[in-house]
This record gives sequence, C-alpha cells and structure tokens, in this order.
Amino acid sequence: MENSSKKCIKCGSTEFTEATDYMPVKLSKMSLSGSNKIYTFCLDCGEVDSIRIENTTIFKK
Ligand SMILES: [Zn+2]
Repeated sequence: MENSSKKCIKCGSTEFTEATDYMPVKLSKMSLSGSNKIYTFCLDCGEVDSIRIENTTIFKK
C-alpha cells in the first residue's frame, strides 16, 4: 500500500484508497480491447486524487 504524504484537497484527510473500473477501448473496426482505470480517492469524502490507466500498451501503435 501507499505511505502517503498526500492530503485530500477537499477535507484534508490523508486516508486514500484505490478502486478500479474497466474501460473498453475500440482499437479498430474489428478489434476491441480494454484496460482498467485505477482511481485513487479520499476515503473520507471521495475526492479523486488521481486516475491512472493500467494497460497503456494497447494505445501504442
Ligand atoms: Zn477528502
């Protein structure tokens, strides 16, 4: 886990956690792929600190 020195900009909490969400990506007419989005958000108020795309290789040509 993260040892965060980061602070929520909304409520000042330092408790953050992560969640993922699947994002389908259409690469071409025939091919569909996808990647997880990883959210890091404040455990107290839900403010999202960052969103990261897990699998960036599918976007590279
Ligand atoms: Zn917060």
